[in-house]
Amino acid sequence: MATRGWNPADSEAEEEDEDETSSPSPSALSSPPSRLRYFDRDRHVAFLEMMYNLIPQYYQSQEINRLTLAFFTISGLHLLQALDRVDKDRVANWVLSFQAHPRSEAELKNGQFYGFHGSRTSQFPPDENGVSAYNAGHLASTYCALAILKTVGYNLLTIDKESILISMRNLQQPDGSFMPLHVGAETDLRFVYCAAAVCFMLEDWSGMDREKAKEFILNCQSYDGGFGLTPGSESHGGGTYCAVASLQLMGYIEDDLLSKNTSSSIINVPLLLDWSMQRQATDGGFQGRANKSSDTCYAFWIGAVLRILGGYKFIDKIALRSFLLTCQSEFGGFSKYPEMLPDIYHSYYGYTAFSLLEEPGLNPLCAELGMTDIAALGII
Ligand SMILES: [Zn+2]
Repeated sequence: MATRGWNPADSEAEEEDEDETSSPSPSALSSPPSRLRYFDRDRHVAFLEMMYNLIPQYYQSQEINRLTLAFFTISGLHLLQALDRVDKDRVANWVLSFQAHPRSEAELKNGQFYGFHGSRTSQFPPDENGVSAYNAGHLASTYCALAILKTVGYNLLTIDKESILISMRNLQQPDGSFMPLHVGAETDLRFVYCAAAVCFMLEDWSGMDREKAKEFILNCQSYDGGFGLTPGSESHGGGTYCAVASLQLMGYIEDDLLSKNTSSSIINVPLLLDWSMQRQATDGGFQGRANKSSDTCYAFWIGAVLRILGGYKFIDKIALRSFLLTCQSEFGGFSKYPEMLPDIYHSYYGYTAFSLLEEPGLNPLCAELGMTDIAALGII
């Protein structure tokens, strides 16, 4: 089954199960080694422009994640200071067309989620009785939709946020976690993060019980300092990002904890710092878990955690830059591992990683929202 929407653990699933894909993955084919030893901004802009105009056939199986692919493309162009390549009004209207709207007050309380659909194929019409039995509004798609709208400068105060927030409470579980859609889905930290980011962007926390969500997050911190996606599971780069960024967005931890009184923090910061620092491998890249290969995307997932904690200054930036350049494609974009063909997911997280490294020509990153600072602040 195709993965639904943006989420960090999707990349991990992909790593665990590489033979599962039915169509060739863009990163599964080898390409000649790139000799470029610098960040080739112009090629990256060309790569994203190509994605903006026509998504290659390799992404067919990701059709249901259309908004996620659009987020990587549009926010990527913004990171590269090339948002002028995008028709902002057209993009905003296209994104808004994916919002699910209840037809009445009663329907809003029927337990379904009235967020955004990931693509046209999940926008099912109501049945003959007018019941939207297959409404598939999804939390990850909703995060991506709002992030794109902020990136193109659309005023989120004008959208129907009540429907999103009131119905989002139906997705929160008794243990504080979130399901991404109203029926038949897993619950874990990825969707707690999406819910927190949605509330933060809409500037309204009525969509969740923050205390319950906090409890769930704290239960996910493992003995080694990292966070698993669910309580008791192995520490994981994506889970750790979701935990730390959510706590930051919810206002439970301050920026740059390491420069302040960390003993007053609700999480074990020294142990978390230790676990995060140990993820930088001898090749300079970051791994998602112990004993795994370095992978471009974890330069963001772990790097952003370190940025939020105030520990980014402790990493070996020269070695990381050097590793990332081995994953830079001569066609533009980044691959997951060195010297492979690029994909849009790892390209986006390559750009965010270079933004964290303060590469000239890139916009600064808002680590906790995973988009540019300017978009996060709403000053486009
Ligand atoms: Zn990855």
